[in-house]
Amino acid sequence: MTSISPSTDLSDSLYKTHHTFKEQGLSQRRFKQKDILPLLDRRRNNPLYTITKVGESFEGRNIQMVRIGTGPKKILLWTQMHGDEPTATMASFDIFNFLERHNDGFDAFRKKILEQTTLYFVPMLNPDGAERYQRRTAQGIDMNRDAAALQTPEGALLKRLVDEIKPDFGFNLHDQSPRYSVGRSAEAAAISFLATAYDYPRSINPVRERSMQLIVAMNRQLQRYIPGKVGRYADDHEPRGFGDNVQKWGTTLVLIESGGLAGDPEKQYLRRLNFMAILSAIDKIADNSLTQENRNDYYEIPENGRWLYDLVIRHATVKQGTKSFEADLGINRNEVSYANASKFFYYSKVEEFGDLHPQFGTQEIDAKGLTLEKGKLYPKAFKTIGEVSQLNALNLLKEGYTYIRLTADNGGRNLGLYYTTAPLHILRNNKSAPIDSPRLGSTATFLLKKGGVVKYAVVNGFVYDLANFKTKAGNGIVE
Ligand SMILES: [Zn+2]
Repeated sequence: MTSISPSTDLSDSLYKTHHTFKEQGLSQRRFKQKDILPLLDRRRNNPLYTITKVGESFEGRNIQMVRIGTGPKKILLWTQMHGDEPTATMASFDIFNFLERHNDGFDAFRKKILEQTTLYFVPMLNPDGAERYQRRTAQGIDMNRDAAALQTPEGALLKRLVDEIKPDFGFNLHDQSPRYSVGRSAEAAAISFLATAYDYPRSINPVRERSMQLIVAMNRQLQRYIPGKVGRYADDHEPRGFGDNVQKWGTTLVLIESGGLAGDPEKQYLRRLNFMAILSAIDKIADNSLTQENRNDYYEIPENGRWLYDLVIRHATVKQGTKSFEADLGINRNEVSYANASKFFYYSKVEEFGDLHPQFGTQEIDAKGLTLEKGKLYPKAFKTIGEVSQLNALNLLKEGYTYIRLTADNGGRNLGLYYTTAPLHILRNNKSAPIDSPRLGSTATFLLKKGGVVKYAVVNGFVYDLANFKTKAGNGIVE
């Protein structure tokens, strides 16, 4: 048994023991409502919980609310109002596991939560969006812009819950683009906060002040584990947003956004930080110690910038016609869903072209003295992707071939946009290779040459250094 002393450092104890509470049924981002319903069902006979159907999504999926505790301070927490933002849903089930446990040093803390607060969790408020792994609801509406019009059943449900419960605190739990930076730094914002503004002048009343105080407390804890990686959204008032309106309706509202962290593509570490930060905030609410925080420290958290690309190529020599010039390229690897949105591959485009000196890349290549050229089309065509996979990709890339053509559609299967683990760019149905040199909007496939020799091949936004070619499983594209 590990020795922990929650009373002296609750947050660190939660952080260190998270793995013992982690819901093993949720281990990657692309889960659906059918994956969380059994986790709710198995809790129905547990007296800790009251689980009720509180509404239906546009497509008729039942939306559940989990009530825990009997205390006077009411806290409403909802996750995944954007269907592709699941980190806090995973953390919510970790919190349920935590609250069920006994005799591990945390019992006094649990007793405090259950006696001082009543927690109302709505995990996965937008199950139709989660089904497709998309932001918007099945109607195609962003429900975080629907707090005024209430055109979505999910938005109307959230409004009704706020009206009926009249929570003292609300947690609006999201994921943000991993490409937001902390201020103007090269650091991605792993977690961002916002104490939403309830009016255009961004006034601060006691309701909003408490939100700032809670954020100050959570930020202090997070800085211990992700120093310099916490950001804050600009607090412009959004009259359609739920955060802004819930704050206006009198509930202290905290927005938490899980962003990007190198080495954590499935956001399992960010989930751990959510677990720690949310429980730490509930602790501050339970004993009202949040009022000891200085709201001015809120403004010390740097604002989010948006300066990051997945890959930046700097100072490449570009030839267009008979002229040449130096340019930078900003490339993003965007996820494309397949297999009913349970999986994804990457499709990468040149999204900026020119001077990127104020911007940063998560990966950067200095191409000073290197010439940017489009790759060549291999003269022989093939029938299937399987045949292409048998080719020696390194030799092809060294000879300048990035494009391989399929005579048909992979033996008659209509794939549409698809992926290949060969580090090659496959053109199906005799599609022709690009005529122009790579530029804004191009698929990010090209060569970087020095003195006529290929140094780097970039295929679908992934870099292959031909002098240190290790890749057997690449991220090629079929289009
Ligand atoms: Zn969101």
